[in-house]
Amino acid sequence: MAKNVDATSPPAYEREPYRTALDASVLASGDEAGRPYVVLDDTILFPEGGGQPPDHGFLNDIEVFDVQKKGGDIRHYVAAPVAPGPARVRLDWDRRFDHMQQHTGQHLLSAVAQDRFGWQTTAFHLSPEVCDVELDVRALSPADLEALEEAVAAEIRAAHAVLPRRVTLDEFRALPVRTRGLPEGHAGDVRLVEIEGVDLNTCAGTHLSNTAEIEVLALLSVEPLRGGTRLFFVAGRRARRRLTRHEERNAALRKSLGAPDAGLVDAAKAKLDQLSETQRALRRAEEELAVAAAEAALAARARVVHAHFEGRDMAFVQTVARRFAEKAGARAALLTATREGQHVFALGVGDGFGDAQALGREIASLFEGKGGGSGRVFQGKAPGLSGVDRALKLLS
Ligand SMILES: [Zn+2]
Repeated sequence: MAKNVDATSPPAYEREPYRTALDASVLASGDEAGRPYVVLDDTILFPEGGGQPPDHGFLNDIEVFDVQKKGGDIRHYVAAPVAPGPARVRLDWDRRFDHMQQHTGQHLLSAVAQDRFGWQTTAFHLSPEVCDVELDVRALSPADLEALEEAVAAEIRAAHAVLPRRVTLDEFRALPVRTRGLPEGHAGDVRLVEIEGVDLNTCAGTHLSNTAEIEVLALLSVEPLRGGTRLFFVAGRRARRRLTRHEERNAALRKSLGAPDAGLVDAAKAKLDQLSETQRALRRAEEELAVAAAEAALAARARVVHAHFEGRDMAFVQTVARRFAEKAGARAALLTATREGQHVFALGVGDGFGDAQALGREIASLFEGKGGGSGRVFQGKAPGLSGVDRALKLLS
């Protein structure tokens, strides 16, 4: 099996991180739980590691959608099997460059956070939308975040060279490297990445060649996490795209709410307050309407009354039934309603009429529906209301 990740001949993604195409050879292929993969003699596709996601790309015209280190091999997971022999490798450069911007941005952010502020990074995540570092600090104020973001911006502007290199274990031990730990069982050279004058760290990832290429690093938000703080950020083109989306959203909100950017939150809050007030007024009007409907049913003077309310809901017929039952004496009212295809019913029974719950259960079964209740009111839902006549016959 090809050993193309050993220290003596680092893969092309490490030697030339800006290279986007490579003529290589398929040395071996296989199938891992239904996922065909190939191993190449050299590759420009970075295998997932150190918080950096795997590259995507093409092998000839076949899509490579995942790259992983397995044993001493780099497995390229492909959409279809690829025959042994020569193969042209192409890199999804937009995806890779984004990862290089986020990843190099994180190196700089972590170095500045530790050296200027004493906040050590304990973890890093690079997700499709945002990145985060976990810092061993209990909380960060808006002023802390502004100071950190400004300090990082100054180092981006300073355009420091980013220099990856390999050193022997002895050289590594003699150098002031920020991360002293190596993976258990590490043998051979150690890959270092230096941001000139700022940071010297171990890392096997792909990096920009200069901090200026980070373009911008924006701190987004913080959340507490196991006694530390998770700090979300975006860098480079991702930050600019995010700003574009924010602007589009703000423009849509300005149009909908008729307010300038600075007034959007207040305008949205005012609309929501208005909506709550309208809903309260509507509930009061519905209550009054239900009371009037109950009075109308009582005024009918019939022993059994039926009324149907189009566009009303369960709460409405329940209120009518309750108000009716309070003054009904030896009378009963069957109230039905339909709204948005949903059928509901309520039975209100005066104290001299009979057992509302027993009658209600029988009516529910006539409607082929379900229901329940308490005291003199029973209510339920039904797939249809064609059982009304039989229900009224039952009550009469
Ligand atoms: Zn790195």
